[in-house]
Amino acid sequence: MKSMTNKGTKKSSKMGKTEITESGMLKDKKMNGYKEEEKKFKRRLMKFEELPVYLQDNEFIRDYYRCEWPLKEVALSVFSWHNETLNIWTHLVGFVVFVTLTVTSLMKKTAMETLLAGFSRPAGVGLWPTMKSNGSADSFPDSYTSQISDPSFLGAYGDGYEVAIWPWFVFLGGAMICLVFSSVSHLFACHSHKFTLFFWRLDYSGISIMIICSFFAPVYYTFYCQPHWCLLYLSSITIVGILVIITLFAPALTSGVIPAAHAVSLYFHHPQVLVALVYEIAMGLLYAAGAVFYVTRFPERWKPGTFDLVGQSHQIFHVLVVVAALAHSIATLVIMDWRRGLPPCNAGILG
Ligand SMILES: [Zn+2]
Repeated sequence: MKSMTNKGTKKSSKMGKTEITESGMLKDKKMNGYKEEEKKFKRRLMKFEELPVYLQDNEFIRDYYRCEWPLKEVALSVFSWHNETLNIWTHLVGFVVFVTLTVTSLMKKTAMETLLAGFSRPAGVGLWPTMKSNGSADSFPDSYTSQISDPSFLGAYGDGYEVAIWPWFVFLGGAMICLVFSSVSHLFACHSHKFTLFFWRLDYSGISIMIICSFFAPVYYTFYCQPHWCLLYLSSITIVGILVIITLFAPALTSGVIPAAHAVSLYFHHPQVLVALVYEIAMGLLYAAGAVFYVTRFPERWKPGTFDLVGQSHQIFHVLVVVAALAHSIATLVIMDWRRGLPPCNAGILG
């Protein structure tokens, strides 16, 4: 690269490896005193000022950067402390949670019931009049747990009526893709300029994929008997979502407001739809709060250098994304259960 000689001589007095190279690998263009260091690679963490420009993203995170480490070292750094460790692990743990949800949904288990009972019980049995029609008078989540565990889940008959549960798996798939893309991106982006560009896009696409996938289940179940609306909303959300992968992801969230308002106007006398809506609003608020942390870079902006390892805005954003996805999981399970409690519709061509 053109600027390499300049940059190298300028900065080499206080550091050893800031050259931006085409391949991203460390090259033999160091000052004499640093040749030894290069041969025996050391996992040295850097300060913000030492980083090449492409890695200088958040000036309030002052230290503990990995920079252009060899791939093997970058991979192993998942187990060591640096300023991306918790960004990697918050979404890795979230990924494991969603893998568990998926496996639980696929296997014959009642763990889902136990999990969900905690969210539904406080509302009381009286709130769920439709549940009685599908044979689960006492326990709210009974019907969908048995549905989900039914081997023919793609179009199962269980306690309630026939309802496909593939939209639930669409969401779980989207969440897993988002979380694993994010973890891998935070782990590997520091390797080189090319890696940074690629993984930043990958991370971004992952978030967009999850947002698109989030809409499938609620729209599918609430507009089950209005297949034209269902198709319209799902295709428009998908198109907007794809556009969003190229631009910003906020509009995808707002495009969900129209089907949500429509659904509520159709089913406002169904308490489960309202409960699901409350969880969806919670999801929206959690995403919004995450976005505020993401944009404002609080708290590290307040005390630069204090939150380099623990407590930085991006880690808070990651945790909020996982919690938002879990809120959406609950909303989806509630709405699936509600749909099972209703008789099949004549126009259910999408089912
Ligand atoms: Zn992230």
